[in-house]
Amino acid sequence: MAMQQEWANKDYYGDLGVSSSASAADIKKAYRRLARENHPDSHPGDKAAEEKFKRVAEAYDVVGDETKRKEYDELKAMISSGGFGRFGGAGGSGFRGGFRTTGSPDAEFDLGDLFGGAAGGQAADSGFGDIFGSFFNRGGGFGRNARPSRGADVETEITLEFAEAAKGTTIPVELTGDAPCATCHGSGSASGKTSTCGLCSGSGYIRENSGGFGMARPCTKCGGTGTIIEDPCTTCSGTGTVRRTRSITVRIPAGVVDGQKVRLAGQGEAGPNGTPSGDLFVTVHVKPDPVFTRSGDDLEVTVPVSFSELALGGTVAVPTLDNPVKVKVPAGTPNGRTLRVKGRGVPKRSGTAGDLLVTVQVKVPKDLDAAATSALRAYAQAEKDSGFDPRAGWAGAK
Ligand SMILES: [Zn+2]
Ligand SMILES: [Zn+2]
Repeated sequence: MAMQQEWANKDYYGDLGVSSSASAADIKKAYRRLARENHPDSHPGDKAAEEKFKRVAEAYDVVGDETKRKEYDELKAMISSGGFGRFGGAGGSGFRGGFRTTGSPDAEFDLGDLFGGAAGGQAADSGFGDIFGSFFNRGGGFGRNARPSRGADVETEITLEFAEAAKGTTIPVELTGDAPCATCHGSGSASGKTSTCGLCSGSGYIRENSGGFGMARPCTKCGGTGTIIEDPCTTCSGTGTVRRTRSITVRIPAGVVDGQKVRLAGQGEAGPNGTPSGDLFVTVHVKPDPVFTRSGDDLEVTVPVSFSELALGGTVAVPTLDNPVKVKVPAGTPNGRTLRVKGRGVPKRSGTAGDLLVTVQVKVPKDLDAAATSALRAYAQAEKDSGFDPRAGWAGAK
């Protein structure tokens, strides 16, 4: 169902701990901090942290995106002002046609669909459904029976490999749902002939006076569409849609995190009678990687090294999402030090990328052959002679 219904009950700014007037940079900063603090890798098995991590990711997916943030703000403003009421004055045509906000096509959202959701009862226990319910009851009872003016939104889930999620990918997804009827091209009519409904004169609703109140009800003859299909298509029985499984290719942007929802406008179910399709929401699950972890846009990797590589310095080949990079380890690098390689992390929307964080970890050999053993003994003596004391200045010494 409509993402917007979900939005109505969410406090995305609150989830990110920022005000609704926060700048995009502040929102991003808050998101990165919270995502890092609650990252599942740092809290294995901690359900609360995992929930928080997901909530923060979901919030950032919306208010971190300029277009979605605008929609979200508009929706919230409308709810808090009770502004839905004004659509009632339009005599119902606003519902049937769907009310669209101005702006780019991506910024559009369709109140008609929200009404459809309330009518279908699927939003019955959400706050949004209640808002519409009470509004409709006051405003004349539209929406309960009115036909949706666009296709339903569809939700699905996919699981990606770590690298696919980090780099972005295209992936085929199978969806079962309503598609436009091929026989009648979605019109519902075999010949394409329709006529204006005689009962409601094409308005889609019927006014009746009861106790001094002007009540409007969806027309029973045309179901609120205002038109009558003369010869219903036999393939789809006049609905304009047929049930079918379709395979679509979904493009997942780079940098998605586990639990994130990606919206694909117009990829949901086909609308009845040729009305626009709903949206597809894909919840992305990301498999853990044996080599990499992520901290926001930074890619983290731990590389085994020898003591001599740290002591003498050298160059190690480190894997990235693409080709390996050669990382210079300065002489005298402490075990556990993290080296930063700029721009070789997770790709960002801006076209740049986060950093690669390389942590060096000494691997101690279990068995040494005779030559290595005698060399190391000689080294140990030389080290001692040089005055090096590994426990010098250590609080636990003596
Ligand atoms: Zn009618
Ligand atoms: Zn048909």
